[in-house]
Amino acid sequence: MNSHDSRTPVIDIPVREAMRVAGDRVYGDRVIEVRYPWTGELVGTVPIATRADVDHAFQTARQYRPTLTRHQRHRILSDAARLLGERRPQAARLITLESGLCLKDSLYEVGRACDVLMFSAQQALIDDGQSFSCDLTEHGRQRRVHTLREPLLGVISAITPFNHPLNQVVHKVAPAVATNNRIVLKPSEKTPLSALMLADLLQECGLPGPMLSVITGDPAEIGDAMVTHPHADLVSFTGGVAVGKRIAALAVYKRQVLELGGNDPLIVMDDADPRRAAELAASGSYRNSGQRCTAVKRILVHERVARDFTEALLAVTRDWAWGDPLDASVDMGTVIDERAASLFQRRVDAAVADGARLLLGNMRRGASYSPTVLDGVRADMELVREETFGPVSPVIAFRDLDEAIRLVNGSAYGLSSAVCTNRLDDVMRLVRELEVGTVNVWEVPGYRLEMTPFGGIKDSGLGYKEGVQEACRSFTNLKTYSLPW
Ligand code: NAD
Repeated sequence: MNSHDSRTPVIDIPVREAMRVAGDRVYGDRVIEVRYPWTGELVGTVPIATRADVDHAFQTARQYRPTLTRHQRHRILSDAARLLGERRPQAARLITLESGLCLKDSLYEVGRACDVLMFSAQQALIDDGQSFSCDLTEHGRQRRVHTLREPLLGVISAITPFNHPLNQVVHKVAPAVATNNRIVLKPSEKTPLSALMLADLLQECGLPGPMLSVITGDPAEIGDAMVTHPHADLVSFTGGVAVGKRIAALAVYKRQVLELGGNDPLIVMDDADPRRAAELAASGSYRNSGQRCTAVKRILVHERVARDFTEALLAVTRDWAWGDPLDASVDMGTVIDERAASLFQRRVDAAVADGARLLLGNMRRGASYSPTVLDGVRADMELVREETFGPVSPVIAFRDLDEAIRLVNGSAYGLSSAVCTNRLDDVMRLVRELEVGTVNVWEVPGYRLEMTPFGGIKDSGLGYKEGVQEACRSFTNLKTYSLPW
């Protein structure tokens, strides 16, 4: 363990934040308090929106007709990427204060958000319309069919989770701007401030107000209105399975993009170098305080290397510095709140009571929970059957590849996976047989570019994938027209 002492943060953002509806700041009488998970200090307050506020945001967006040229969209997004890059320290600090993620994680997140803006700026320039000659068969004619992409007729409704307060938001907002859409965003009530900062930044770069509204509030009060509003043509949701399935049932005859939870495995085969595999396991389990949909949540290790691997994992974990999120040397801050930390502790305790061995960690101080390693874990234990959204490394030994594949596919989830082996025959079998959206060899399950397609199957997602390119596709209608020339 390597825990650091508390330091008092300097809150340097306005405590009273406001929603942005059609570019206007809207203050409410009732507020949500956003507190720094490390100390409990107040970071800011945001209004609690009513259903009438949601209706107003969708009505205003629907009435507005975006007229930005591709060049103008490109400029707004690339200016935003540049400005966010210049303000990286302040933006990272804001993420840390509202989420408890350590500065290393927050700085990385801001860098990724800049990439999303930059790729979206490039995407704004690409006209991917196709042209088909019609004389291809005996039924053909001397004509051509052409395709073009248009923004949606209605409005995008976007709902985002707490775990990447900025990056999840920008993955919906920037492709919406690139495709000339209007979007109403409801960020997580736990971390709404980064979303408001992004909305300000885009407006500063010239985005017309009605193209982006940010609504803050209690999901129990406004959640249904966000997904059933008649002007919402598409619901783009990232979050947990329970809410995702509820949205799937409610958002009838609307396009749905649902990016849900994960239970991603790291598979370590018997030819793998244990130290290299252990470094991936630790970074996959503990980065972002284990709060990534694609975090390593189960470590499946071939029984022949299980002992060497586990020893190497313990060594890496002991060096993982956790504690004060604002300390630039710390590797892991808090999790989102004390309730979440207590849940991980309860699940680990239950696994140990059921026969697993606690090798390191399972310590909690408020919302801080230490990197934790267990072995002797069985697939039916709640710790690995459910998504445990925190810094826990549960090691499960397997006998052969058949068993590893059975264990992975036995989960209700199917987001991503990671494999440590140099044997191409095994790799290709896993690529073909794992029921997941991604297989990364010698990388963590979360590895991707912000541009590349990303998303899961089974309980992990439905509809289009995310990633800038796919998001731009999902945010557009494809129109065909044919001409006699
Ligand atoms: P959550 O499902 O509790 O909340 C997500 C969002 O949904 C929040 O904005 C919340 O306010 C809103 N919400 C809650 N109830 C609602 C309702 N009835 N109607 C409409 N909206 C409602 O998830 P969370 O705890 O914020 O985030 C963690 C989860 O997100 C994990 O399961 C994680 O795996 C998942 N996640 C998935 C991806 C992915 O790309 N697949 C990425 C990040 C996180």
